[in-house]
Amino acid sequence: MTSTTAASTAAAAQRATATVHGYPRQGPNRELKKAIEGYWKGRVTPESLRETAADLRRATWKLLADTGVHEVPTGDFSYYDHVLDTTVMVGALPERHRAACEEDALAGYFAMARGTQEAPPLEMTKWFDTNYHYLVPELGPDTVFTANPRKQIAELGEARGLGHTEARPVLLGPISYLLLAKPAPGVDPGFEPLTLLDRLLPVYATVLAELRATGATWVQLDEPALVQDRTPAELNAAERAYRELAAPAAPTERPRILVATYFDRLGEALPVLAKSPVEGLALDFTGPAAANLDDLARAGGLPGKRLVAGVVDGRNVWINDLEASLATLGTLLGLAERVDVAPSCSLLHVPLDISFERGLDPQTMRWLAFARQKTQEVVSLARGLAEGTGAISAQLAARRADLASRAGSSLTRDPAVRARAAAVREADVRRAQPYEQRSEAQRARLKLPPVPTTTVGSFPQTPALRGARADLRAGRIDAAAYDERIAAEIRSVIAFQEEVGLDVLVHGEPERNDMVQYFAEQLSGCLSTQHGWVQSYGTRCVRPPIIAGDVSRPEPMTLRWTTYAQAQTSQPVKGMLTGPVTMLAWSFVRDDQPLGDTARQMALALRDEVRDLEDAGIGVIQVDEPALRETLPLRSAARSGYLAWATDAFRLATSGVRADTQIHTHMCYAEFGDIVAAISDLDADVISLEAARSHMQVARELAAVGYPREAGPGVYDIHSPRVPSVEEAGALLREGLAALGASRLWANPDCGLKTRGWPEVRAALANVVAAARGVRLAG
Ligand code: GLN
Ligand code: ZN
Repeated sequence: MTSTTAASTAAAAQRATATVHGYPRQGPNRELKKAIEGYWKGRVTPESLRETAADLRRATWKLLADTGVHEVPTGDFSYYDHVLDTTVMVGALPERHRAACEEDALAGYFAMARGTQEAPPLEMTKWFDTNYHYLVPELGPDTVFTANPRKQIAELGEARGLGHTEARPVLLGPISYLLLAKPAPGVDPGFEPLTLLDRLLPVYATVLAELRATGATWVQLDEPALVQDRTPAELNAAERAYRELAAPAAPTERPRILVATYFDRLGEALPVLAKSPVEGLALDFTGPAAANLDDLARAGGLPGKRLVAGVVDGRNVWINDLEASLATLGTLLGLAERVDVAPSCSLLHVPLDISFERGLDPQTMRWLAFARQKTQEVVSLARGLAEGTGAISAQLAARRADLASRAGSSLTRDPAVRARAAAVREADVRRAQPYEQRSEAQRARLKLPPVPTTTVGSFPQTPALRGARADLRAGRIDAAAYDERIAAEIRSVIAFQEEVGLDVLVHGEPERNDMVQYFAEQLSGCLSTQHGWVQSYGTRCVRPPIIAGDVSRPEPMTLRWTTYAQAQTSQPVKGMLTGPVTMLAWSFVRDDQPLGDTARQMALALRDEVRDLEDAGIGVIQVDEPALRETLPLRSAARSGYLAWATDAFRLATSGVRADTQIHTHMCYAEFGDIVAAISDLDADVISLEAARSHMQVARELAAVGYPREAGPGVYDIHSPRVPSVEEAGALLREGLAALGASRLWANPDCGLKTRGWPEVRAALANVVAAARGVRLAG
């Protein structure tokens, strides 16, 4: 090391501080959710909602500052979604909501999020590969942007007023904002929002200048879209955006700019940002993004810039290996002017505080870090970096012990599970008979008409069912009384299906609160929390299970209610399981082994369940994989590896059955284009898919890849209370018929019916059955 590098390394270390990109918004008792939902019902005044929100922000900043965070984030708070906040900030309100927004900004904001009788909401979709959903901006060639930095200015002012003078506003950057947008309704679907960049940049420049005037030294612009495969034109746009926003360079006219990326390596966009005149970059160094370390060294580092190093995984729940992180940070010191420490991304994606949990084994709790603990970790790491490891030797020693406890625990290493997973052979992931033989055996056994009718699994989760669960939890009824309510529901769901004329029945899933949690609660190796809430969208929060150890199934999980349902009818009842990939996608997964290994263990547990159902006489078994598309890696280079283990896991779960047992699967979330080949590789006998809104697009896509088995593209859009008419469902079925033929087409809804009401469900299913009969007669 030359003496100048040594000197600058020492300077970089000396100034290392801790920061975070964002914090959970809901509060320790989900105060925000309650206040917003109260406001929607007219029970909470706008003033009182604003007060609750300000109290929560104040408490978060205080907690962060008290923990030792130097620059607290502002503007990351949101009543609903930060992408919607950005839409408001740049004035890109959809025409249909503009008047409402002008009349009452708060009411208009929620109207865009939730829709009104007159104006549908913005579309909602997943935020990259997380389980957070954002509201998709709608843009077109006529979009006019205007700067409306009120929220950002107010929150910065609030933080500064409370003494957080180094507060750093966090905004969604212009490139990601445009790349996350879609053409507005009525606009040419080929319209590319990125062509609006020149119009958008002046608005961002105004917002930056105003934040500077309010006292911001640094402003963070998040550009997670840059970690995906990007075209040269998109990279050019990023280059231009940051060249323009970072000029003029005069520190009095604009704040310093920190561009943040996360969720994967920056790849080709790294040299673009490194060469740009922005003053700092925040990079993710966890998971697949750990490749940023080598990439950065190869690119010659970030001379003259600040690097905010995301070494603590911001989207999973495990304690950090502090010593490994310090080693990474040590390497990074030589690569930038100044290095600060942060979680990899906003802490929005993890629960608030592990110390709220009462029911977890203390031995296991030691391994877990939620937002508050992750904040402590980045503070310790910054201190270790600035003052030397001696300054945090006690934390390091304790951490070593915690990590050793996790690695050596019988929960994380169950020899029987490991031996079984290691013994899996190629033959275990293949059905013993080719499809033609299976199909013949299934036809002989099930004797279904052409275009058979079925549903995807759940029937309405009525207030009475939710009430029964609440009664059981509160001890108002005992387990036997609860079970009787479930049994009664199953009897009535079966009777209804017989009456309406469905061919393959389901038990309706009344006993399941959630399709992942229900199984996680019964599997060894999975933990459930009491307070581990994470925002899914708006005020909807979920408590994902934590897959902490080797997974196995101590007892059958679905046998009792499935066989109970089958005993009520002579028609086939379809068993209903959640697939291995979806179990992982909607949980926090262990980070100490490849995901494919965890998926294999999960698959083996499900394989046993499938076998038990088969042995009990269940002839049709559905294994749902709605999340198969969701966890597709952000970068295409990693996709084939993912799809290989994901399809293997599904097949391992389902291929241990006889020829005459019919395996179904189900997927939703409209676009399947890039995974149809993988869907076909699952080798399920029948697959039901969401398709009603896309006019059976997926049926044609399946036909195009030569999909040889049966499929039920949905003919009833269950996301809407609308009842499809017989004609509508029939028209969709005829499109399906044209693509797949009568011997391979099923008639079913797009997804489960749990969010719908009984009157609509009754009418809609009657129409689906009538439409299928019509198509049979005509064929
Ligand atoms: N079987 C599940 C249900 O019907 C499937 C849900 C889903 O695909 N998200 O509820
Ligand atoms: Zn679905």
